[in-house]
Amino acid sequence: MIHKEKLKEQYEKELQLFEKSHPKSKELYERAKGSLLQGVPMNWMVKWAGSYPVCVASAKGAHFQDVDGNDYIDFCLGDTGSMVGHAPEASVKAITEYVKQGTTFMLPTEDAIWCGEELSRRFGMKYWQFSTSATDANRFALRLARQVTKKPMIIAYNWCYHGTVDETVAIMDENGNTVAKPGNLGPQVDPGKTTRIIEWNDIPALEEALKKGDVAAVLAEPVMTNCGIVHPEPGYHDALRELTRKYGAVLIIDETHTICTGVGGYTKAYNLQPDIVVVGKTIASGIPCAAYGFSQELGDRVAEAIPYELCDIGGIGGTLAANALSMHAMKATLSEVLTEDFYARNIPLATKFNEGVQSVINEFDLPWNTTQLGCRTEYWFRKEPAKNGGEAEAAVDFELDQYMHLASLNRGILMTPFHNMALITAVTTEEDIDKHTAVFREIVQNIL
Ligand code: PMP
Repeated sequence: MIHKEKLKEQYEKELQLFEKSHPKSKELYERAKGSLLQGVPMNWMVKWAGSYPVCVASAKGAHFQDVDGNDYIDFCLGDTGSMVGHAPEASVKAITEYVKQGTTFMLPTEDAIWCGEELSRRFGMKYWQFSTSATDANRFALRLARQVTKKPMIIAYNWCYHGTVDETVAIMDENGNTVAKPGNLGPQVDPGKTTRIIEWNDIPALEEALKKGDVAAVLAEPVMTNCGIVHPEPGYHDALRELTRKYGAVLIIDETHTICTGVGGYTKAYNLQPDIVVVGKTIASGIPCAAYGFSQELGDRVAEAIPYELCDIGGIGGTLAANALSMHAMKATLSEVLTEDFYARNIPLATKFNEGVQSVINEFDLPWNTTQLGCRTEYWFRKEPAKNGGEAEAAVDFELDQYMHLASLNRGILMTPFHNMALITAVTTEEDIDKHTAVFREIVQNIL
């Protein structure tokens, strides 16, 4: 079992070690405080384990180096933004050549058509639109679902994450009511007015939430990935599709993270039949870009529901959305990087990663579990994999999390922050995985 006193002691030791090996990052952090709010360019970066964030110098493939010259195996990969690996050669070449000929026009380019065709082939959705982020794609999908159904409510899942989408920064309280998520900053409206939060894998709760007939859309990751990896139980997706059809709600499947499953995400791999698919982050090798695709039936309804004269002020789209550079980067990524070969190589490595972690869990008889989805793996501090977000959240141990991240970082391993997720890219090596297993064993042993 984990020794709480030892955990505290070890964390202090790790902090000292961190400060000793990251003096330049510290210097830069002190300077940043003069111009950046809380010393970081984006608020979440304050939450990294350690006394201050590591400042990156450069990256290639599955590794990056910080300003102090430390090298890391990157299992975070920009929290999926760099799932394709840092600076993949084909994308770098395409992007650097293209950038010389202009980047953004508010006019289409031929690349956008290629991307639409390729995404249709991969996901089976008929029509595509592009946005600057997956958050935007989800927001626009929800708006359009309300526009065509003329219904007000959204269903989302307890402890889900779909970006900074107002309707989804919500959880279910102990009485089953939808309330703002702890930490929800300045909610524009009480999320209880826009959203019904239900537990994943609970079919009766889904039907109950749909029954009133006032639900425009259900927004779901096909496998929850932001509270650990929580798989659907057999039959859940069938019920989700059947019930959303029965009650006239649009089914939006958010593949932003589950694109780790394969070239067409979980949708293609498991033959899901959503009305809208959202995908983002890594699909343009880290150039900001996301896509959302419609079934023919819904797409035709959406097209009819957007008034021609007013389409530019209706609350969807964006000046830089579908810009020429991002379309070119997406074409290069889809055609040359995020291919069948990519997944064929890295999924077995993800399995190896999990087997390594599981062997340590078994050796020390820890009440932890591992889960995997394609090239995404996770360990979680409960004996059995969680069945839903509520169960997963109940097992969060912030201190233990912080320690695991910091101790890994000090040994040259970057895990995804805020939970214990590792992404494996095509150029992660067997040695990288073996090193993680050895480090994981060492840092666990230090707190027993
Ligand atoms: N959907 C899912 C499932 C996500 O996990 C995230 C971000 N973690 C988003 C959407 C939003 O992506 P972005 O922050 O790039 O807008």
